[in-house]
Amino acid sequence: MEQSRAPQPRPVSYDVVIVGGGVAAGATASGLRDAGFTGSVAVFCAEPHVPYTRPGLTKQVLRGEKPESAALFKPAEWYAEHDVDLHLDSAVIDIDLSGATVRTGGQTIGYGQLVLATGAEPRQLPLVADLGVSSHVLRSIDDARRIRPLLREGVRWLVIGGGFIGAEFAASARIMGSEVDLVMQEPNVLERVFGAEAGSWFEQRLEAQGVRAHAETAVEALERTDSGIQVTLANGKRLEVDEVLAGVGVRPNTGVARQAGLDLDDASGGILVDQHLRTSNPRVFAVGDVAAYDSKLHGRRMRIEHWDVARAHGDYVARQIAGATSEPYEQLPYFFGTMGTWAFHRYVGVAMGGGVVRGNLDGETLAIAYLDDDARLVGMLTVDRDEDLDAARELVVAGATMDREQIAADELPLAECVAS
Ligand code: NAP
Repeated sequence: MEQSRAPQPRPVSYDVVIVGGGVAAGATASGLRDAGFTGSVAVFCAEPHVPYTRPGLTKQVLRGEKPESAALFKPAEWYAEHDVDLHLDSAVIDIDLSGATVRTGGQTIGYGQLVLATGAEPRQLPLVADLGVSSHVLRSIDDARRIRPLLREGVRWLVIGGGFIGAEFAASARIMGSEVDLVMQEPNVLERVFGAEAGSWFEQRLEAQGVRAHAETAVEALERTDSGIQVTLANGKRLEVDEVLAGVGVRPNTGVARQAGLDLDDASGGILVDQHLRTSNPRVFAVGDVAAYDSKLHGRRMRIEHWDVARAHGDYVARQIAGATSEPYEQLPYFFGTMGTWAFHRYVGVAMGGGVVRGNLDGETLAIAYLDDDARLVGMLTVDRDEDLDAARELVVAGATMDREQIAADELPLAECVAS
C-alpha cells in the first residue's frame, strides 16, 4: 500500500540567513544567485509580504495606478525557482552570535553567514497616535492599503512633516482629489536635505497643485469633534481635517542587533559596519537603512535611507559572500523621487544643504551642485538635467574641485566647470 509522504522538514541551518523584507533583503538574495552562489539561502520577513520596495507606496501603488505586485522586489515565484527559502510572517526575535543561530517564534535556525536587513520603522507623534483610526504613517504595504480608500474628494488630510513622505504623499493626495494642509517645522519642504533654493522650488510646485503649506510651525493640539478633527497650530491658526498622516522620519530597527550585543552607531542609531558592511561580528553583515557604514568614498560614517543604496548594499554583500569581491564598498549614493506627476528628481552623492544653483530657478528643470568647504563637488540634485547628473557622478568620485561662478553661470557643461 502506498504511504503518504510526510512533509519534508525545513533545514534548520542555512549557509546564508537574511533577515528583512525590503529592498536590501531582496537584493541580497537575488545578488547571491546572480553571483553564482549555490549554498542554501533563507529569507525571514517579519511581514506577511514577499520582499517589496517602497517608492511606489507614496505614488502609483498608493494611488492605485499600479497593483501592489509592482512593488515586489522579485515576483513571489522567483524565490522557489532560485531555491531560496522564504519565511513570511517570521520575525527573528533573537540572535545567538556564539552559537550562530537565530530564533523565530517557533524555530531555532543556524547560519553560516547572517545578513541583517531589518530596515527602519516610522516614528509616530503621540498626539497623532492618540487619534486612533484617523492616525496614519506610511511605510508598509499595509499602511498604503489602509490609506488608499481615504484618498478621494471630500477627505481633508493633515500632513505633518516636510520631508520625503510629507511632500510625496501631499502630491499624491492632491492628485486623488483630497484636500491637503501640510504642517512643517522648516521654511520649505525638503529644505533640510536639499537647501533653501531647492526647497522653495519644490514647495512652489506643491502649492501650485493646491497643497496648503504651513511653514515654521507645529501642531499643538488635535481634538476630535462632530465634524472632524480640530487642529491647533503653534502659530495660533486653526484647521479642520478628517485624517492625519505623520511623516516625521524613521528609526532604524536595531532591536535584535542590540540584544545580540553587536556594536551600534550612537550618532545615527544604526548598526555599525565597516567598509565591507561587516558588523562587529565577522559572520554578520548589515545592509540598507539600518547600516551605518564607513564610506571609503566619502571618508566618513554614513547611514542612508534610500532605495538604491539598500539595493547596492545587498548586491555588494551578496558578491562578497559569493567570493566575487573582496574590495571595500565604494558605490556612490544615488536616489530619486517623484513629486506627483510633475517632478522627477535625482540626486548623487551626499546631501548637504546649501548648494550652487545652475542658471536660475525659474524653469521646470533644476540643477544644484553641492560643494564642501574646499569647493570639492560632493553631491548634485537635478530635475530633468540628466547630463549634469551623469557628469556629477564622475566628478564626485574623482573629488573634483569646482569653480562656483562657472557652475552658476550655466554656460559650460558641468565637467568643464572644474577649477583651473
Ligand atoms: P524625513 O525625510 O527624514 O523627514 C522628516 C520630516 O519630519 C522633516 O521635515 C522633519 O523636520 C520632520 N519632523 C521630525 N520630527 C518632527 C516632529 N516632532 N514634529 C514635526 N515634524 C517633525 O522622513 P520621512 O519624510 O518620514 O521619510 C521616511 C523615510 O523614507 C526617510 O528615510 C526617507 O528618506 C525615505 N523616503 C525616501 C523617498 C525618496 O528617496 N524619494 C521617498 C519617501 C520616503 P525637521 O527636519 O525640522 O526635523
